[in-house]
This record gives sequence, structure tokens and C-alpha cells, in this order.
Amino acid sequence: MSYISTRGAAPELDFEATMLTGLARDGGLYVPRAVPVMTHDQIAALAGKSYEDVALAVMHPFIGEAFSQTAFRELIARAYADFGHPARAPLKQLAPGHFLLELFHGPTLAFKDFAMQLIGQMFQAALARSGQRVTIVGATSGDTGSAAIEAFRGLANVDVFILFPHGRVSDVQRRQMTTPSEANVHALAVDGDFDTCQALVKAMFNDHAFRDEVALAGVNSINWARVLAQVVYFFFAGVALGAPHRKVSFTVPTGNFGDIFAGFIAREMGLPIARLVIATNRNDILHRCMETATYERQGVAPTISPSMDIEVSSNFERALFWAHGQDGAAVAALMGELAQGGAFHLSENAMAHLRGVYASGRCDEAQTAAAIAATLAETGELLCPHSAVGVHVAETHLARDPATPMVTLATAHPAKFPDAVEAATGQRPGLPPRMADLFDRPERMTRLPDDLATLQALIRERIAA
Ligand SMILES: *Cc1c(COP(=O)(O)O)cnc(C)c1O
Repeated sequence: MSYISTRGAAPELDFEATMLTGLARDGGLYVPRAVPVMTHDQIAALAGKSYEDVALAVMHPFIGEAFSQTAFRELIARAYADFGHPARAPLKQLAPGHFLLELFHGPTLAFKDFAMQLIGQMFQAALARSGQRVTIVGATSGDTGSAAIEAFRGLANVDVFILFPHGRVSDVQRRQMTTPSEANVHALAVDGDFDTCQALVKAMFNDHAFRDEVALAGVNSINWARVLAQVVYFFFAGVALGAPHRKVSFTVPTGNFGDIFAGFIAREMGLPIARLVIATNRNDILHRCMETATYERQGVAPTISPSMDIEVSSNFERALFWAHGQDGAAVAALMGELAQGGAFHLSENAMAHLRGVYASGRCDEAQTAAAIAATLAETGELLCPHSAVGVHVAETHLARDPATPMVTLATAHPAKFPDAVEAATGQRPGLPPRMADLFDRPERMTRLPDDLATLQALIRERIAA
């Protein structure tokens, strides 16, 4: 299995190198040269299987020679062993035709654990084999960083540096990043928003001398291995609802477009997905792009669903690569326009492709709170604000296409965002018992300005120590 860049000008890599690299050297994102297709019978055979068995069947074709079937089965087993629910991703029914896929039973209570726990296992196995050491850097709007730190804390041959926007993540998110005491964990509070953090990370990757000097590796949602791990639960939920004999739609609370793009890969592999619905909060750049064919930055406004407060939606580039017939030069030109003028315009052909796969909707702050309250009243399910954005948008879509079952992805546990949930319902969600002492543990973090040189100096100093 070989991987190519969405901008068409980086070396082709195998799975292991793609995973260890993260961002391609031409600034693009790695994608498989050809997506393996599962037959109708192969998909039908997934029904009733455990999450781990589905994971093995769906992911192994992408891994090539990197891990044997037996070794990979072992890594998968370890990745999901600490989840707080035996189903790993339980599917609950909210209303006729509307289902909720709970992806928040991992160690940091957000769907990011599905990919990050597995990546931690895969990095460890690959680095142990080669004797290499790497420096992982990532930007986070809250959940990626905590999931990455949880997955890599204490591992040999790895330092993990996570940049988060100072004062813009929830207390639970921050504490999940600042309380691990292992020396290889570095939580960095940056003055700025998520896009500031992401731009710093991209700049470090594009500084090739620095990148080689410290052996940078990225585990942000741009890392292909993360997208791959997320493909699994689309199959897991799809077959539970009758695929491949029946079509299913998914609504995905979307920020960086990683999670929903995993759904696109599942669809390319043969899972009969009718629509992938992009659900945005009031930072609706993706929804506006779907409506107007123009992707245009207007600034980010903070919301009660902060993990989606993003306007440079990195993985959208992967969707654009498919929408332009895998023409890397065309994608590179669009990304150049975005960097220069803060916008790009999509052709009719590209829009026809996107609208054939995706639909979209937006949910403002009042609608988010109303969805949390209504879902609690009607079903007893307490939603986090991101999941509530999804449920609101899914309901609108379901009204248009009631015959196709809809699965909304519940991306975080309500206890990760207790203030917003309490304001909407009067109920304060409690942390699961396994992390009840989070607020008693000491915190450790470094405050940083938005300055590349300062950041690079800090990384050099810490990894030399
Ligand atoms: C990361 C995150 C999202 C957005 O996912 P993307 O893959 O970036 O689109 C939504 N909800 C929660 C809780 C998240 O942590």
C-alpha cells in the first residue's frame, strides 16, 4: 500500500513512513494511492463482530507489510482494552430512524481516543523495531492534545509537545493535558486561538532542517493513521443498522474534517453511505462553502463547542483532492490562494462531487443548548455540546430523508464540558469514577507567545535534557 501527497510533490511512502511523518514535505496530506474496496460479502460478514474484529478487517488492507495480521490484532487489543464500555462504541436510539454512536468511552472521554490509543501502540512497536526516537508535536483545540498525551505518556523514544490556545480549552481538557507527570509530556499554552497553534505546528514541519534535527512526527488529525482508525466505527455502526443490505447516513460534528473524512473513506471502501452530513457550529466556513462554493475565512468566534472552533479545516484538503480527480497541482493552487488571500472558489465540477457525497448544516449557540435540553427531556441522554450540534443538524436532514437511518456521532462525554451542559439543563454531568480525582492532581504547563523561534528553542532544550 503506498501513500501520495494531496499536493502531488512529495515522495511516495509506505504506511509506516506515512504514519511517522504526519504532514507531507510539500505541505500536503498523505492519502492512499488507491483505496482498497471490500466486497458486499466481506462487509456483510462484519455484522455481529466485536469492535476489535471489525477494526482488524477494515484496517489491515491499508497497513501493507508494516505489521503482520497477528501483531496488528495484538496492538488493536491493547489500544481498546482501557475503554470504559465493552462495546467500545455503543449505538443508542434517539428517535425513529435516528441513532447516536457514543464515541466517548475512551480514557480522555472523546472520540480522538479511538485513533490516538492505536497510534500510540503502533508508534511504540515501530520505534522499538528501528531504535529511532521522535518528537511528536501537535496543535489542539482541547481533545486531540489530551488524547495524544494519554496515548504517549511514559513511552520510550518519544517526547510529546502539545500546543493549546491559552484560556480557550475547558478545565477538564486542560487538566487532562497538564496533570500527567511523565517527563516526556510537555503541555504548551500558546497566546492565540487554535489556528495560531496549528500554524506554528505547520511552520515547524515546513522548516525541513528543524524537522530533521529533532525527528518531528505529527499526530494531529492530518496524520493518515488517525483517519484510518476512525474509518472503523463507520463500518461498526453501519453493519449494525443493516449495511451492506441497506444504506445509512451519518452526521458528524466537524472541525478539522478528520472524522467525517474517515466516513468518506468507508464509503469509498464500499460501505453504502447515502450522505455524510457536515455539522458545524457558528464557525460555519464548511457549511458556507457547501452553499456558496467559496471557502472564505472570516475569523473564529468562541463557542460552547470549542473543539469545532476552527476555520482552516486541514482535512478538507483531502476531500478537495478527490473532488478534483486526485489532481495535486489543482489542490496546491487552491491552498496557495487560501494562504495569500484567505479564500478560494470551487468549480462546478468540484461542487458536484462534494454535493454528491456531503450535505451540511449549521447550529448556533441557542440551538445547541436547546438540543441538549430536548434530547435529555425526550431520551434521558445527556449530550456534550459538540454532539448536540450534530443532533440538531441531523434532525433537519432526517426530516428531508426519513427513509434512511441516520447515525449522529457523539464525539465527547458531557462531563468534558460541564458548564455548557449545566447551563442548558440544570444538571452537572459528573466525571466517570476512573478519573474522579482529576481536579486534585497538580498541573504543569509552559506559557508561550505566538513565536516560532521561541517554540523551536524550547523543544531543542527539552529534548536535550
Ligand atoms: C475534534 C473534535 C471534533 C471535530 O472533529 P474533526 O475531526 O476535527 O472534524 C468534534 N467534537 C469533538 C468533541 C472533538 O474533540
